Amino acid sequence: MALDLLRDLRAGVALSDYTTWRVGGRAESFAEPDQQALLLELVAEARRRGLPLQLIGAGSNLLISDAGLPGLVICTRRLQGAQLEPGDGLVEAQAGEPIPTLARRAARAGLAGLEWSVGIPGTVGGAVVMNAGAQGGCVADCLRDVTVVDPATGRTAVLSNGDLAFAYRHSRLQEEPLVVLSARFQLQPGQNPDAVSARTSSNLHSRTSTQPYQLPSCGSVFRNPEPQKAGRLIEGLGLKGHRIGGAEVSTLHANFIVNTGAARADDMAALIHHVQDRVEEAHGIRLHPEVMRLGRFGTGS
Ligand SMILES: Cc1cc2nc3c(=O)[nH]c(=O)nc-3n(C[C@H](O)[C@H](O)[C@H](O)COP(=O)(O)OP(=O)(O)OC[C@H]3O[C@@H](n4cnc5c(N)ncnc54)[C@H](O)[C@@H]3O)c2cc1C
Repeated sequence: MALDLLRDLRAGVALSDYTTWRVGGRAESFAEPDQQALLLELVAEARRRGLPLQLIGAGSNLLISDAGLPGLVICTRRLQGAQLEPGDGLVEAQAGEPIPTLARRAARAGLAGLEWSVGIPGTVGGAVVMNAGAQGGCVADCLRDVTVVDPATGRTAVLSNGDLAFAYRHSRLQEEPLVVLSARFQLQPGQNPDAVSARTSSNLHSRTSTQPYQLPSCGSVFRNPEPQKAGRLIEGLGLKGHRIGGAEVSTLHANFIVNTGAARADDMAALIHHVQDRVEEAHGIRLHPEVMRLGRFGTGS
């Protein structure tokens, strides 16, 4: 295993290649394990060496600083695989399984309950941490339990849905640095595969026609200050198309910020800050980012 670890660890990897915004500096040390045993060994190695540890999935909800990240960054996107039980609707997926792939497979197996998730370009692990959701559904509605490892002790545990303190785009895992290894979903068995697949495709179509899927983004940047919609507040202030450096408030959907080509993380952070200030001045509401920020940023951004 020691040899495998050495083979797997890489220094100075550009994290911009691992985020959908295409920004972010370098990881001091980086690994992309393709087996759970290797992931566990890497987590143990970080503990032994006292390295800061950062898990990332598909990087579709991350703003990583231009200065990069110290310690060990582990990306789970090669940890794929899922087992579906069409009989009882139980689906077990590895942390790095892409959520859209899982949604398609479930639909083909006549399992309903993940149709909402097909347009979310994240992994199962990231979706659980974020309680990802769309079009009226979210992870909390169909997650049965997750298997996690505590990097501080190396102990694994199974946490049930009720243990995870799910709320709008929130789970307990955002405060506790547990590593998600796999998740089990309880779906509805015995559905017509064509009907579930049609609903899944229709959900994807309605999103790709109203959101800027062609440009690098991280999806919605701000949480909706319910009952208000962040996108409407931003659009109402004429901020669509507003740019800082290579970062631009999408002209298609105002709650998206896109990378027009050569944006840096600092551009993204500055534009987020600008939008927050403008909305607060006009409406007295401070928008809270949904996107997770990793690493060090300058003051004021
Ligand atoms: C075009 C586009 C559309 C989007 N639409 C939606 C939407 O409709 N709804 C929605 O909710 N989100 C949406 N998002 C945001 C994003 O896809 C989700 O938040 C997704 O769940 C993030 O998953 P990820 O694997 O990319 O996680 P990452 O962005 O890599 O990580 C997110 C958080 O999870 C943690 N994490 C990831 N994997 C693990 C693991 N195995 N163990 C422990 N922690 C882990 C990371 O440390 C980080 O804190 C969209 C993004 C894009 C680019």
